Amino acid sequence: MDTKYIFVTGGVVSSLGKGIISSSLARLLLSRGYSVTIQKFDPYINIDPGTLNPYEHGECYVTVDGHEADLDLGHYERFTNIHTTRANNVTTGRIYQSVIDKERRGDYLGKTVQIIPHITDEIKRNVKALGKTGKYDFVITEIGGTVGDIESAPFLEAVRQLRWELGRDALLIHLTYVPYIRAAKELKTKPTQHSVKQLQQVGLQPDVLVLRTEKDIPAAMLRKVAQFCNITPEAVTQSVDAPTIYQVPLLMHDQKLDEIVLNKMGLSAEGEPDLSGWRKFLHHIENADKTVRIALVGKYVELQDAYKSINEALFQCATYLDHKLKLEYVHSEKLTDDNVAEKLQDMDGVIIAPGFGQRGIEGKFVALRYCREHDMPTFGICLGMQCMVIEFARNVLGLAEANSSEMNPTSPHRVIDLMEEQKSVHDMGGTMRLGAYDCRLEEGSHAARAYGSTDIRERHRHRFEFNSDYREAFEKAGMKCVGENPDTHLVEVVELPDHRWYIGTQYHPEYQSTVLAPHPLFMSFVKAAIAYGEERGGAEA
Ligand code: GLN
Repeated sequence: MDTKYIFVTGGVVSSLGKGIISSSLARLLLSRGYSVTIQKFDPYINIDPGTLNPYEHGECYVTVDGHEADLDLGHYERFTNIHTTRANNVTTGRIYQSVIDKERRGDYLGKTVQIIPHITDEIKRNVKALGKTGKYDFVITEIGGTVGDIESAPFLEAVRQLRWELGRDALLIHLTYVPYIRAAKELKTKPTQHSVKQLQQVGLQPDVLVLRTEKDIPAAMLRKVAQFCNITPEAVTQSVDAPTIYQVPLLMHDQKLDEIVLNKMGLSAEGEPDLSGWRKFLHHIENADKTVRIALVGKYVELQDAYKSINEALFQCATYLDHKLKLEYVHSEKLTDDNVAEKLQDMDGVIIAPGFGQRGIEGKFVALRYCREHDMPTFGICLGMQCMVIEFARNVLGLAEANSSEMNPTSPHRVIDLMEEQKSVHDMGGTMRLGAYDCRLEEGSHAARAYGSTDIRERHRHRFEFNSDYREAFEKAGMKCVGENPDTHLVEVVELPDHRWYIGTQYHPEYQSTVLAPHPLFMSFVKAAIAYGEERGGAEA
């Protein structure tokens, strides 16, 4: 069949969860046997979110091919279980860069280069590029931002043209918000009507509406929206707040979203999607009757999107183990020798978060010393692993000034040092060691047992690495380098074999954990945390 293109726009307010709706629709179509990919356009000028502070944009997700991407791509992968790539996340900056490069090459043959048609053509080329791979029945394209923003105008124009060109092979879903006015005790659809009008003004008529709402919207109100927005009544659906994002595919199936989309695109909607694996996971969510308490030590405690993939990986694994996840964010900047016991003693496991720069780093060492000395299940990820190495150097090897050259380039003991190939790098954007690399694990190590394999492949995002000059000293003192890159011999995993679970990974396993394939290392960590909790008396739900 010809590739079908589904566009998802949002109106009224931002943060409506276009990514979750797109992912849920993808899940439903996949469960009906179609091949699907999801793509996101971000209307900002940055080439990618890699240089953005988490306060601006939450977590930076990393794809297997080493693209620093919007965190929605994490949702896409968690819901679809399919890898995304650089082609799945395109910013205004990338579009302009490509057009300007073409202009410099002389590709435009003396023409004036303009937003229309050159920028819009470049957007269209990027939409179709995924379809042209021949791998997908459906390409779902999420347009970031809110309809009416100046920034998203060229994207909407590109969508308008594509719909015209593709006819029935294109469909537009518009997501809006229906506020509940507490004082009047009423749901209001006027913002939705205005938002659809705004789309109509740029020549776009949505085919399907998804109304985000806190409360059930009465059928008569949905009919009214259909009537005022030129939409067939069955295609006005609602998406009521759900206890977890993972319920949304089923809720949207109840709203017949998959059926509506298929019918509108001329495909049969007979039969039911096979959601058995998904339902099994939801069943575990309902069954979880105990609690596992994990502390996440990091500096973005007030900003939980900064650690989105870690949060979701932990939730997935705890759920499969029939536990509710109680995740406590512990502010690394505020941790001291005096308060660390109070903050961590009731925890079943501790994660030391990834990150950059000096802020909050000393608190991570305080936490790690406590965890190591109390033999708590401890998981260091990227900077967290590097901190494990530094803390061990300082407090076990007696190298009091040990550090990473990121934090102190003149430290006499740079146990974490800049990677060789990074020494000539000056630009910040897209220049880290990024994407998936092979790693060989030592047979019999905790890590290899957790994976059930010695050959793994995981995603990276860092400039600094374990300094191999110190490897022997560490191993002699009990911290083993149990994972390394088979080609470069970079150390990728360290562990304390005599501890119950004390593992640090230079890579980010959280990017690979999905609902249908929860990550084995997170699974092993959460299991160890549950066992540790039970050993100490267990926690009530
Ligand atoms: N700042 C460290 C580095 O660049 C760790 C990065 C991270 O945690 N993602 O090596």
